[in-house]
Amino acid sequence: MATRVQDRDAHEQVLSFHDPATGLHGVVAIHDRTLGPAMGGCRMWPYADEAAAMRDAMRLSRGMTFKNAVAGLPIGGGKAVIIGDPRTDKSEALFRAFGRFVHTLQGRYITAEDVGVSVQDMEWVRMETPHVAGLRGASGDPSPLTARGVFVGIQSAVRHRLGTTSLRGVRVAVQGLGHVGSHLCRELHQAGASLIVSDIHQDAVSAIVEQYDAVAVAPDAILGVEADVFAPCALGAVLNDRTIADLRVAIVAGAANNQLESERHAEALRQRDILYAPDYVINAGGIINAASELEGPYDRDRVLARVEGIAGTLDHIFGRAASEQVSPAEVADALALERLRAARRTAA
Ligand code: NAD
Repeated sequence: MATRVQDRDAHEQVLSFHDPATGLHGVVAIHDRTLGPAMGGCRMWPYADEAAAMRDAMRLSRGMTFKNAVAGLPIGGGKAVIIGDPRTDKSEALFRAFGRFVHTLQGRYITAEDVGVSVQDMEWVRMETPHVAGLRGASGDPSPLTARGVFVGIQSAVRHRLGTTSLRGVRVAVQGLGHVGSHLCRELHQAGASLIVSDIHQDAVSAIVEQYDAVAVAPDAILGVEADVFAPCALGAVLNDRTIADLRVAIVAGAANNQLESERHAEALRQRDILYAPDYVINAGGIINAASELEGPYDRDRVLARVEGIAGTLDHIFGRAASEQVSPAEVADALALERLRAARRTAA
């Protein structure tokens, strides 16, 4: 499918980059810089072709504009994707070539980690450009902070939907036990929740089952298990016509980006009385952490307090959604647009 012109026009800039010497090939999308330089992680993934990479970069960068706006950060939305297999195609030379490309953007885009990209990779990028976050000795790996935000977000959702302040005995089905999912399982277990988990990698499942007394189910069964909360922490588009009909939970609240296959699925969840924590609100802990590097020396306590503020943001969103009888996703989008419009008025 070709990129639609109107999608492209909605972005400030979309560029592809190539470096034949290192095999680097990817796309950077700068969606909106109303609130500050465009910031968002770099994803490495074996996309089928450049068009697929471009679609993903554009979709993800737009999501970053909304995420950063609702999180109250002084940054706009951007994203980079590198076409390649993170298990086999990484090298210092490749990430330094990426760093040189980021440097040509003169700070309009600031990069960091995303799926398939590690702190070490960002250290290589830093050799070529200062426009990078998520470094050692600073904010580092964002996933523990993302998981913290998801944890306090689940607490907020449980308060609103189940009327209890404790997670003791609350059943949470976690899909995906990677960086964020594994930290989230630790926090939930410590809070007394009971865990039902799945991953496509058996070693990841075994570790969580052993450490946190979790019950494992097959990857294709996790969406249909009976639980209080479904926490998607793997892929996007897991909430669609088929899966929403199968859900047997009261809440959907997890880390994955772009959980809804389409916008209308937020309303489909509401119709089934399932409380949905908008993905880009509940998973903002990682970008709050990385963006703190722009302010000066890294202060973990200050970052943690801000990440835990996600609970208050969700309390507000759930309250407004209930009183306006709309989905929480609709309220989150409205909050983002309100902030962007106000910033544009101030700048005018
Ligand atoms: P990750 O790659 O470390 O973990 C993803 C896990 O999901 C892997 O263990 C993988 O095997 C598993 N998985 C893939 N397909 C699956 C399936 N069908 N069923 C069950 N498990 C499956 O990634 P991550 O950093 O933990 O991120 C997880 C999600 O959260 C992604 O959608 C990412 O975009 C989003 N996110 C991550 C961060 C962060 O700080 N890392 C921040 C914001 C959003």
